[in-house]
Amino acid sequence: MMRIERILANNPGPFTGPGTNTWLLDDGSGTAVVIDPGPIDRSHMDRLLERLGGLQPIAVVVTHTHPDHAPLANPLARELEIPAYGHSPGPGFDPDSRLVDGSTLDVGQIRLEVIHTPGHADDHLCFRVEDVLFTGDHIMGGSSVMVEDMGRYLDSLTRLKDTGLNRLHPGHGEEMEDPDRVIDWYIAHRRQRHEQIFEAIQAGARSASEIVGRVYADVDRSLHPLAARSVEAHLTLLRDQGRIALSTDRTISVPPDPS
Ligand SMILES: [Zn+2]
Repeated sequence: MMRIERILANNPGPFTGPGTNTWLLDDGSGTAVVIDPGPIDRSHMDRLLERLGGLQPIAVVVTHTHPDHAPLANPLARELEIPAYGHSPGPGFDPDSRLVDGSTLDVGQIRLEVIHTPGHADDHLCFRVEDVLFTGDHIMGGSSVMVEDMGRYLDSLTRLKDTGLNRLHPGHGEEMEDPDRVIDWYIAHRRQRHEQIFEAIQAGARSASEIVGRVYADVDRSLHPLAARSVEAHLTLLRDQGRIALSTDRTISVPPDPS
């Protein structure tokens, strides 16, 4: 039976919660893969090497190239003399092999399936093994996700619904059960924010920072820069939906009602 172990990286903070979850997955007979080694950190690398003692790691994989997930991947892979895999190169990461939607990686007796889930980042991947999904930053335990591309993000969530998942292992925070309920909540939360943002615009807000002040008043101020990026993603989607117009400097206007 496969075994899953979480090793928390030493990078707690407003954007990372308790820190990045590095997941060790082994097939039950010792063949293993490392998911999201995290930032460059010698002590975290030493802990990973210690936990991998006695196992046969065959690959290091990353969900995406943000600095709290990927930079330790190449050094760890080199140390273990195994390949590093990811969707594409990014800051501090250069995959030995690229993964795309539908790629698979055989880890001894288990098979890791790759699902491309753009939205939080263009290069974001989720990894499925049996009824377990490693979600990276696509779905997080206990905090809301910064989104770069809202249309694609919602599509990527919808695609995971009703696919027989039983457990989510996120890049930050605790494991989650009842994935379909969690995914429904994420979609509903995003749609609610989308309408709140449109209402703020109708009430006179004309920039992302004005919207953050109104819509994210309940969110800790240290997270407002992150919220502003998600608001930009909502604005782009509102424009694509024809509900607002955006000038080149991203000033918002509401088109006159065509009727
Ligand atoms: Zn990220």
